[in-house]
Amino acid sequence: MKNENSLLAQLIESFKILPGIGEKSAQRMAFYLLEKNREGGAKLAKLISSSMEQIRNCVSCRTLTEEKVCDICSSEKREKSLLCVVENPTDIIAIESSGSFKGKYFVLMGRLSPIDGITPEDLGIPMLIDRIGESEVKEIIIATSPTVEGDATSFYIRDQIKDESIIVSRIAYGVPMGGELEYVDNTTLSRAIQGRRKLD
Ligand code: ZN
Repeated sequence: MKNENSLLAQLIESFKILPGIGEKSAQRMAFYLLEKNREGGAKLAKLISSSMEQIRNCVSCRTLTEEKVCDICSSEKREKSLLCVVENPTDIIAIESSGSFKGKYFVLMGRLSPIDGITPEDLGIPMLIDRIGESEVKEIIIATSPTVEGDATSFYIRDQIKDESIIVSRIAYGVPMGGELEYVDNTTLSRAIQGRRKLD
């Protein structure tokens, strides 16, 4: 790539913003679209553009949605007394496909990490506490990852919930240490939710 401002060079550079994509993979992607699948590339470009403009965070649970309030939050069929706290929207997809949970969710969009400057406010924990106070939630199931930060996040949330009539539990593991929920198979995830333990 001689000319760094050429469209091709910029396209390759742009692919490198994706996690795990280095120079070689970025080149392969760019050349694949240009040589083999221009139609797919054009569709991808349009979808990325409209997704970036239209997808936002649900005002109730913070997951990603095109609506103001997401489908799960607005569903009448979901159990209002159960609230599952997860780190990422992909965790919702994993738990939903396990079919083992019929309550509602709250998405932190990360986990506490003082080293990276990630605070309770960044994770919407004050919003979570408000939501618990205003709603009919009777049990909070914390499904943060089994990592040091995931545990710290879990204990922090536990400490913030002052209403003693609310049960706070943590999913059992089952889920491999340091593992992300999205990589856990459905059966293991179902057992982890069923075998959740109360946090004292
Ligand atoms: Zn929602």
